[in-house]
Amino acid sequence: MPAHVIECDIAIVGGGITGSACAYYLARGGVRVALLEQYDLNTQASGRNAGSLHGQYQLTPYRTMGREWATQYVPAMRFLVDSITMWRNLAEELGTDLEVTGNGGLLVADTDELAAVVEEKVRFEAAQGFTAELVTGKDLRQLAPYLAPTIVAAEYCATEGTVNPLLAAPAFARAARRHGAEVLTGTTVTAVNPASGSFSLETTGPTITCAQVVLAAGAGLADLAAPLGDALPIVDEPVQVQVTEPVAPTVPHLVYYAGGKLTFKQSHSGSLIIGGGWLASVDAASGYPHVRMDSMRQNLDVAARVAPWIAPLAIVRSWAGVGSVTPDLAPIIGESSTPGVFFGMFPHMGMTGGPLMGLTLAQLVRGAPTTVDITSFAPGRFTPVTT
Ligand SMILES: Cc1cc2nc3c(=O)[nH]c(=O)nc-3n(C[C@H](O)[C@H](O)[C@H](O)COP(=O)(O)OP(=O)(O)OC[C@H]3O[C@@H](n4cnc5c(N)ncnc54)[C@H](O)[C@@H]3O)c2cc1C
Repeated sequence: MPAHVIECDIAIVGGGITGSACAYYLARGGVRVALLEQYDLNTQASGRNAGSLHGQYQLTPYRTMGREWATQYVPAMRFLVDSITMWRNLAEELGTDLEVTGNGGLLVADTDELAAVVEEKVRFEAAQGFTAELVTGKDLRQLAPYLAPTIVAAEYCATEGTVNPLLAAPAFARAARRHGAEVLTGTTVTAVNPASGSFSLETTGPTITCAQVVLAAGAGLADLAAPLGDALPIVDEPVQVQVTEPVAPTVPHLVYYAGGKLTFKQSHSGSLIIGGGWLASVDAASGYPHVRMDSMRQNLDVAARVAPWIAPLAIVRSWAGVGSVTPDLAPIIGESSTPGVFFGMFPHMGMTGGPLMGLTLAQLVRGAPTTVDITSFAPGRFTPVTT
């Protein structure tokens, strides 16, 4: 065999949280894994996100996509909640402090009209079995004294928390390596070729031969899936995050605002991480995402409305990354129309879903029963019906 061929049982394409977690769960089970990443590990969405562990419905889709969507989305929401449970125990398992917090999240409202929207959402979520309660008045002031006095009500979701995205995927990849996984960075997969019961992956480095393939390529997934016969309707969504100078410990929660796009939380270093899905731009020539100043200004205006003491803080860093979205906002987890190839991506909230996504893919590719029901996440659900 030529020296530039690597043989393994399963090749995983994508060194973000999905691919790294999958590599860990497979390697831990004794499978010979090769994890292939075109750049360095954790350099795309998984290393650029805001580290929110989302355990409640995001308000914008909840309001705009309707009750039927919200009901269909229950399995996706459960997936996130189950994944947060995994996050809480990972530090010990991976031997790295991932700076996971679990103090809950607050969706805050500053008008009676918004408070009514939040209250209705709490009722829906509680009816579906999710952790959600309405907090108002003195209870709210006591729970979150850092909020503006104009905030009249909040949904408190005890499930939610935060993680440090700079630490998580690398910790999974290191643990995978300890269990024998081969990790190849700077290795772009250019073609996945089925070859009589196995696969040959063409890359910018060695050729990889394997029995099965997991595509965990995030924004690159649709391009890899198309030649295999799977038209995945994944749309790129460039968004950005801002970080303030450090301040004394003030905000233990993940905070959202019902009246505009916002998330903020306080990191272990004391900085506030401010985001919420404000659009970044993408350079047409290079394809690289760039921070938009107008988005930053609007994002900070919304943050100052919720907590005015944020306004004078210096912004020390801002960056952009490319997230991915599907038409129904639900994840894609399942086998390609080319048997032996598996897909895994979670729109908007793939950091939250990362550990369970990695575990589920590992179970799926080995033919083991999956811990969670993934029927509604099948890639084939998007295939247009032809008559
Ligand atoms: C600014 C921002 C903020 C976000 N905030 C949050 C948040 O607070 N909470 C949350 O839960 N989610 C958040 N997200 C979403 C979350 O980051 C993603 O859903 C998650 O990181 C996806 O992980 P992944 O491993 O599937 O994909 P990625 O992290 O994109 O990893 C895919 C990897 O595949 C590699 N790749 C692609 N094509 C190839 C190829 N052909 N060959 C080899 N390698 C390839 C890429 O280089 C990349 O490293 C945010 C996203 C962004 C951009």
